[in-house]
Amino acid sequence: AAVRASDLVARSGTDEFAVLLGHLRSAHDVARVARKLAQALTEPYLVDGQEVSLTVSVGTALFPEDSTCAVALFDYAGTALAQAKGRGRGGVLAFEPGMSATARQRLQTEAALRRAIERREFVIHFQPRVELATGRVLGAEALLRWQHPERGLLDPADFMAVAEASGLIAPIGEIVLAQACAFAMQREDGTTVSVNLSPREFRGRGMVAAVQAALTASGLPARRLAVEVTEASFHGDLDAAERTLTGLRDLGVRVVLDDFGTGHSSLACLRRFPVDAIKIEGAIVRAATENAADAHLVRAIAQLGHGFGLAVIAEGVETEAQRRQAQVCGCDEAQGYLLGRPLPAEAWAEQSPA
Ligand code: C2E
Ligand code: MG
Ligand code: MG
Repeated sequence: AAVRASDLVARSGTDEFAVLLGHLRSAHDVARVARKLAQALTEPYLVDGQEVSLTVSVGTALFPEDSTCAVALFDYAGTALAQAKGRGRGGVLAFEPGMSATARQRLQTEAALRRAIERREFVIHFQPRVELATGRVLGAEALLRWQHPERGLLDPADFMAVAEASGLIAPIGEIVLAQACAFAMQREDGTTVSVNLSPREFRGRGMVAAVQAALTASGLPARRLAVEVTEASFHGDLDAAERTLTGLRDLGVRVVLDDFGTGHSSLACLRRFPVDAIKIEGAIVRAATENAADAHLVRAIAQLGHGFGLAVIAEGVETEAQRRQAQVCGCDEAQGYLLGRPLPAEAWAEQSPA
């Protein structure tokens, strides 16, 4: 009803539609119609007496300015749509040539990630977590690396965004879980192992089942596994986050709130979502030896954590002064290059923390 009878409207995917507009007087008309369509679709719907609202993102491409090839035009509109989605809810974006280079690169990384899963190119490095009072190693954090055939050993920063956006993080996460559980099983000293979960993984429907499956397959007792999530996991669909959190804790798995001190709503987050430990972001821990404000922050976070009955972990400790400061500020445990670098499981046994 929002377009002319001569325009073509089609469904092109689960939640994707294509609209072909003809006889436009100017490029401005495209944006105008796109906004009109988006507005029409965002009117609340009544479903079983419940009001449901949608947000709509739109990408557009123009004939003949962007291309005279129908396939390319459709592709470009898709590229613009992907960018519009990436920018957040409800945007209308016109295709620009620069977009396709970015999109192509993304697609290449995605294809390479698929191959990496098949060819088992992922390796896990483990970094010790140390009790500050005694220097005892309490456990290890599993950190993902990609042994890329041409580019060498890659950090999560090089590929995690694409893994997340493409959904490939789910199979990759299962690899990490399996290897982390196997690592903990090989150690007889009761070492616990923690695995990072990205927000998308955490909120995914299958998370609790995947963790349960990894525990069962490895035989690792649940209390020796922890998951690390950032507070971004608790944004958006709060109920989904709560279900996962409850499901994991019911299994007996510990939950650590990672990168604490960097987000926007840490305090409210702690109230609604019960966790077992908080891990203070490394930059704050390191700055605590440099200025009083950060030292104060670390001390306050430690106090807050203890008030909630949580263990407080300082991350990213690189010097003896930083280790001492973290301890003075009340942190219970620490990780960092000073105490042990992330290393492959084979090399881990020989490493002796300071
Ligand atoms: P994170 O969980 O906060 O991990 C801490 C990061 O700090 C790691 O970077 C670690 O190598 C690094 N680090 C450790 N000690 C020190 C230190 O003393 N100084 C400094 N400057 N850095 C230190 P990495 O391995 O590159 O991982 C980055 C992030 O990627 C992680 O942050 C985590 O959010 C994510 N990540 C890592 N592995 C996985 C995974 O298996 N799955 C998911 N979803 N995310 C992962
Ligand atoms: Mg972590
Ligand atoms: Mg962290």
